[in-house]
Amino acid sequence: MTVYRHCDVDDLARKFQKLKQVGRILLMTDGVFGATGKIAPLAALTRQLRRNATLWVDDAHGAGVLGDNLRGSAEAAGIAQRGLIRTISFSKAMGVQGGAILGPAWLRKKLLHQNPVLIGSTVLPPPWQPPR
Ligand SMILES: *Cc1c(COP(=O)(O)O)cnc(C)c1O
Repeated sequence: MTVYRHCDVDDLARKFQKLKQVGRILLMTDGVFGATGKIAPLAALTRQLRRNATLWVDDAHGAGVLGDNLRGSAEAAGIAQRGLIRTISFSKAMGVQGGAILGPAWLRKKLLHQNPVLIGSTVLPPPWQPPR
């Protein structure tokens, strides 16, 4: 694993230069950093991606807040990166429980059929209803 300086696209470019013999790259970032509210430079980060790289945006704080359709920081940045992975929480802007992993078909298939955490786990409980 390689870590680049916080939101520093130039540092990311330097780190990519040093990664000579790698198969696939998974570039992970928050869309919006919860502690500061800083928005990741997704468009610039995306321009650094090579063919063998996938961008994964944890958009817990961006989903439901950013973008014309409130789809999050990727929509706000105007990126429609092929293979883009986004994880969102329903517990921030939406104020409920749960979350979602949004991504390409290969990832959805893998998570549904090969993820030991999901296989055999219990679904979210139905909402509590006050007695009438
Ligand atoms: C809140 C948060 C999550 C997880 O949210 P849940 O409350 O577990 O649904 C993941 N990533 C970031 C950056 C968050 O702020």
